[in-house]
Amino acid sequence: MLTVKQAQQQNTQKLLPFSDTARMDVDILLGFCLDKTRVWLITWPEVALTAQQLADFMRCVERRIEGEPIAYIVGEQEFWSLPFKVNAHTLIPRPETELLVELALERKLLPDASVLDLGTGSGAIPLALKSERPLWQVKALDLSQEAVDVARANGVALSLDVDFVASDWFSMVHNETFDLIISNPPYIDPQDAHLSQGDVRFEPDSALVADEGGYGDIRRICEAAMGYLRPDGVLMFEHGFEQGEGVRSILSKNGFQGIETINDLAGLERVTLGCRVVK
Ligand code: GLN
Repeated sequence: MLTVKQAQQQNTQKLLPFSDTARMDVDILLGFCLDKTRVWLITWPEVALTAQQLADFMRCVERRIEGEPIAYIVGEQEFWSLPFKVNAHTLIPRPETELLVELALERKLLPDASVLDLGTGSGAIPLALKSERPLWQVKALDLSQEAVDVARANGVALSLDVDFVASDWFSMVHNETFDLIISNPPYIDPQDAHLSQGDVRFEPDSALVADEGGYGDIRRICEAAMGYLRPDGVLMFEHGFEQGEGVRSILSKNGFQGIETINDLAGLERVTLGCRVVK
């Protein structure tokens, strides 16, 4: 028999060599297996785990020891204060991507603006936007049908009406134009050493890695996007912290104007945008 407190103590020790956040990981995983909050765990340290709860918890701890991200083990990640289901077909939404959402909301778009998200994954960006701007018409694409299924389920769970479509970038968009095109595309250089470390090892390569030193997908999107933007429409990307200059140059080569890069909270170049200006 093992109590809540004993399970916490033993498994925090076990996880310490493998995780910088061992105690927090243990509390999240234990709460998940017991279907209880963190406050409950603090309040009831002497409660004994059932055999099933213990078996579930030990399996979760083993997965964490193998390096699997917490978000995949519990199947959920918070973004923009909303809960998103995630799985191995979707990137885990990152806090820095909230900057992209903030900047989109700051644009003075029409109340019923038309918005397109490219490479949506779990649907975090378009669903966050729709939660703040219910009248926006929001469409979101992903190459992966499995990701689209996850994103749609998130839309249903949050009661937010976003049109999710499986599409290789713009291939399934016909005769439609947008006031805003937004994207957190794959942008990591295939040679980047951090691909073999930590959480990203478990995330889909197709959502992380792009050819041409990480710029391939950004270039493809920039070359096609003008044809899908309304006059004064904006194209906005998240990118790597060393890619600001490269992205500005790709946007400029493709005729975009009013190009601007915005830093994230860590002071790193993180989002770049360009406008379709019609004379
Ligand atoms: N920001 C993520 C990382 O560096 C990558 C996300 C992306 O490629 N779109 O892990």
